[in-house]
Amino acid sequence: MNKYDVIVVGAGPAGLMAAGQAAESGTKVLLLEKMDTPANKLRITGGGRCNITNAAPINEFIKSFGMNGRFLRPVFSRFFSTELLQFFYNAGIRFVTEADGKIFPEDDKADTIVDFLLNWIRERGVTLQTGFTVNRLLIENGKLTGIAGSSSDKIYYTENIIITTGGASYPGTGSSGDGYSLAKSAGHTIINIRPSLIPLEIAGNIAQDLQGISLSNVTVKVLVNGKNITSRSGEMVFTHYGVSGPLILLISKIVVEHLLIKQKVFLSIDLKPEMDDKTLDAFLLSEIKTHGKKLFKTLLNEWLQKKLVPACINLLNIQPDKLCNQINAEERKKLRIWLKDFRLEVKNYRPLPEAIVTAGGVNLKEIDPNTMGSKLIKGLYFAGEVLDLDADTGGYNLQAAFSTGWAAGKAAAATFLH
Ligand SMILES: Cc1cc2nc3c(=O)[nH]c(=O)nc-3n(C[C@H](O)[C@H](O)[C@H](O)COP(=O)(O)OP(=O)(O)OC[C@H]3O[C@@H](n4cnc5c(N)ncnc54)[C@H](O)[C@@H]3O)c2cc1C
Repeated sequence: MNKYDVIVVGAGPAGLMAAGQAAESGTKVLLLEKMDTPANKLRITGGGRCNITNAAPINEFIKSFGMNGRFLRPVFSRFFSTELLQFFYNAGIRFVTEADGKIFPEDDKADTIVDFLLNWIRERGVTLQTGFTVNRLLIENGKLTGIAGSSSDKIYYTENIIITTGGASYPGTGSSGDGYSLAKSAGHTIINIRPSLIPLEIAGNIAQDLQGISLSNVTVKVLVNGKNITSRSGEMVFTHYGVSGPLILLISKIVVEHLLIKQKVFLSIDLKPEMDDKTLDAFLLSEIKTHGKKLFKTLLNEWLQKKLVPACINLLNIQPDKLCNQINAEERKKLRIWLKDFRLEVKNYRPLPEAIVTAGGVNLKEIDPNTMGSKLIKGLYFAGEVLDLDADTGGYNLQAAFSTGWAAGKAAAATFLH
């Protein structure tokens, strides 16, 4: 009764895919999930729309994971975006690709994906037990024998375990980092857990003053010791603690890495990236001349979002009630520099639970990239975010979870059947 061919721990995208694949190969599979409902995080992906993958070709896809992306090549060469979309297509689910390559279900519902996966594993005979927290791997003389759960004090026996417990962010969804201690108990090393895709806290009161302002089509440079280490364009928003939004999430991983080694990090916002310094100067000069009789603050209101104007006036220390024809060359230069280089000091990053993805995790050197199998303990597998893999936003993280889950499920079933 309590013995299974394969046990999967964690019913997120990686776990559901792994369990279904293992069962499809004919094995008796138990999927254990600590929450009362499975796939809570998957349901909120992409703001509930589920950005499931990306149209990027394999090389570009792999690059979005940074240095560790190479680990995914063997699995992606067997189960990549085309195969993932085909898998859902066979069940009648259709997708749309947006201009930036992000792919979503046609009905914009993450629930469609979750409901299908739950139905698919049920049809394949997977036993899903929710409300069961796995807290111990049973290993005897270097061999897996089963798992023990805290909540029901129950033991299940197996020689094949796939750990798909996710990262340590958004713990309310169930992903609270349990997989790291399970991995450690089996002798695995865990690469420094840290937030990736995380909002940033800004020094001083400037962010609070600008709270709620959203800037689109801006470019942000990350400056460390005055050196530009990366830059991205897009949309950002000011919050009560600092800055967030798609553009900030994209630069956040590199910011976190520099803050962790105690370096001072500044963001330089280019509010007018479409104009170089010379063009902007000519534009400002012509505007000031044309509208010589207007108040400077009135003109600023035409160029900038209303809520940004007091901050601009404050930072530049220019008399707002001056007429435009009273603005001198020095003041125009100050304005131009600010528009191209609105600088904010990053004080910190938000806590790990707020991260969209967790960076760090089970050391990839200890995992076989073809099977997701542990090189230390036979029959133990890892898939999804619990591994030391994280990518930019864009559907890359879900694809990695599905692909690694697919490989682990197939491999675990194959070892059992042979
Ligand atoms: C708000 C938000 C939006 C996102 N949007 C996108 C997006 O649009 N596209 C994209 O590619 N990525 C997105 N991501 C990232 C993506 O959701 C994750 O990378 C992905 O869900 C990881 O899948 P996983 O199966 O490895 O882990 P998870 O989805 O985290 O699932 C792990 C499961 O394991 C269970 N579990 C944990 N510990 C135990 C235990 N001890 N015993 C039993 N069960 C356990 C958890 O309850 C959970 O159900 C988003 C993330 C967030 C937070």
